[in-house]
Amino acid sequence: MTIIYNDYNIKKHSTFKIGGNVKTVAFPETIEELINLLSSEEYDYILGNCSNILFSSDYINKSIILTEKLNKYFINGCKINVSCGTKGPIVSSECRKRNLSGFEFLIGFPGSFGGMICMNASAHNQSISDTFISANIYDVKNKKVITLKKEEMNFKYRNSIISNSGYVLLNADFELKRGNEEDIDEIMKRNIEFRKTRQPSLTYPNAGSIFKNPLNDSAGRLLDLCEMKGQTEGGAMVFDKHANFIINKDNASSKDVLKLMYRMYSKVKEKYTISLKPEIIYIGNKGTEEYKLWELMTENIQMAQK
Ligand SMILES: Cc1cc2nc3c(=O)[nH]c(=O)nc-3n(C[C@H](O)[C@H](O)[C@H](O)COP(=O)(O)OP(=O)(O)OC[C@H]3O[C@@H](n4cnc5c(N)ncnc54)[C@H](O)[C@@H]3O)c2cc1C
Repeated sequence: MTIIYNDYNIKKHSTFKIGGNVKTVAFPETIEELINLLSSEEYDYILGNCSNILFSSDYINKSIILTEKLNKYFINGCKINVSCGTKGPIVSSECRKRNLSGFEFLIGFPGSFGGMICMNASAHNQSISDTFISANIYDVKNKKVITLKKEEMNFKYRNSIISNSGYVLLNADFELKRGNEEDIDEIMKRNIEFRKTRQPSLTYPNAGSIFKNPLNDSAGRLLDLCEMKGQTEGGAMVFDKHANFIINKDNASSKDVLKLMYRMYSKVKEKYTISLKPEIIYIGNKGTEEYKLWELMTENIQMAQK
C-alpha cells in the first residue's frame, strides 16, 4: 500500500545528504499504485534514488513521488525486465553472477533505472541506451500507458524523451550479451578503480557531476584550469581530485552548494566564454535567493520531470 508522508524530511534520501521538509512524499509499492498517484495529478516530481538532485534545505512546498519501493527485476536468459525504482548496482551484480555483459558500468553509481533512463546515464564507454529494448511509460497528460521502443526514446547525452515530456517510466526491457566471467570482473574492477582514484565515494555525500560536459570538452578540465579544486563555500567543497564534483564536507546547505556552483559557472564563463549547463537538478521554491542563483545558471533549461 502506498505510504504518504506530509511535512517529510527528504535529506536522508538524497545522496548529497541535503534537503529540508517536503509538503508531501509518497512511496508507491506497485506500478498500479504509481499510476493511481500520477493520474491524480497532485504530484510535482517523480524521483528515483535522488542521486542527481539538490534539494533546498528550506521547506519545499511540493509533492514528490519516490519510486524506491518499485524495485523488482526479472532475468530470463539475456533478457531483463526492470521496474523504475530498481538500483543499477543491484542488477549489475546479478548480471555479473550470470555472465551477462552490458551493465558493468552501473556498478559505480547509485541511480535507479527510472532516473538512469531519463538521463541516459553513461560511463566508461557504456550507456543505458546501449542494451535498452523498450519501456512501458505512463503518459501523464493523456492518462494512458504506452510502450516506446529504443528508436522512439530520443536518447541523447544526459537526455531522453522522458526528460522533456510528461512521461513517467514504469518498467523497461533490456537485452544483454553473454560474456565471460573474467572479462566482466575485469571491466568492473577497472571501473571501480577509476572512480576510487578520481571521484568522491558516497562517504563524501555528493550528486555526481555538477555540470554537463560542453561539446567536445570536459567541464572538469575547464573548472580545473580555473583553479576550482578545493574551493569552499560554507560546508560545501569542490572535490580536490576532480573539479566537477562538489562534496558535502561539513553539513552544507543547498545555498552553500548553489553559491559554489555559481562561482564555478562564472569563472568558466569569464575565462572561456562557455556557459556550463548544470547536470544536477535543483528542487526548491520559486522566488527564493537560491532559486535565483539556479535560474542564472539554467536560463531556459527544463526543471526536473513533472
Ligand atoms: C557518486 C556518483 C557518481 C555518479 N556517476 C555517474 C556517471 O558516471 N554517469 C551518469 O550518467 N551519472 C552519474 N551520476 C548521477 C546519477 O546517478 C545519474 O544521473 C542517475 O541516472 C540518476 O538516477 P536517480 O534514480 O538517482 O534519479 P533522480 O536523481 O532521482 O532523478 C533524476 C531525473 O530522473 C527523473 N526520473 C527518476 N525516475 C523517473 C521515472 N520513473 N520516470 C521518469 N523520470 C524519472 C527525475 O524526475 C529527474 O529528472 C552519479 C551520481 C553519484 C552520486
